Amino acid sequence: MSFVITAPGTPGIAVAGSDARFPVRRIYCIGRNYAEHAKEMGATIERSQPMFFMKPADAIVVDGADIPYPSATTELHHEVEMIVALARGGRDIARERALDCVFGYGVGLDLTRRDLQAAAKAKGHPWDAAKGFDASAPVSTLRRVEDIGHPRTAQLGLDVNGERRQQTDIAEMIFDVAAIIHELSKLWTLASGDLVFTGTPAGVAMLRRNDHVHAWLEGVADLEARVI
Ligand code: MN
Repeated sequence: MSFVITAPGTPGIAVAGSDARFPVRRIYCIGRNYAEHAKEMGATIERSQPMFFMKPADAIVVDGADIPYPSATTELHHEVEMIVALARGGRDIARERALDCVFGYGVGLDLTRRDLQAAAKAKGHPWDAAKGFDASAPVSTLRRVEDIGHPRTAQLGLDVNGERRQQTDIAEMIFDVAAIIHELSKLWTLASGDLVFTGTPAGVAMLRRNDHVHAWLEGVADLEARVI
């Protein structure tokens, strides 16, 4: 197919043990998926109805690259999250079949302009400017399911300038990976290349220029970056 202007490229994430990259199609995120974080945000914990939002695929920042401090905010917040990369998708995927869709896992940051989010919440406006901005999705190298299986319990955490900010076990998620894929597939047709941010534990806080971040998911992946 020919295009009238140069077609944009496909954002790609490094994969451990491979020279090839994982192509990103869409980025789905679940909100309020750890009870302690929902509590710190003053949100009610909804165990029957998950809350989803999206980021653009080209918002990814690969491991080792700098994170540019975004425009239009004085309250950039970190949210460390396990990420799930899909090799296949579909609609109305049964919970029991959902993990068959997973290509691999990693760790990422759901960066948030918290001031814009608070303003949007107050007015009932959408979250796009608070969540889906440029470079709002730093991600680690991915690990393949064939290499590590499906992590069900593992420590997830974030250190900023060597100081622990967030830590939990992924077993504390309200909706686990299979449940998230099942719920997403009722709302969208999932496909290969989709990436899912699975929610953050308590401890979200400010990032500033020159901060060094180290996000980690035990036995799976690390992500290191500097905010510039
Ligand atoms: Mn989040």
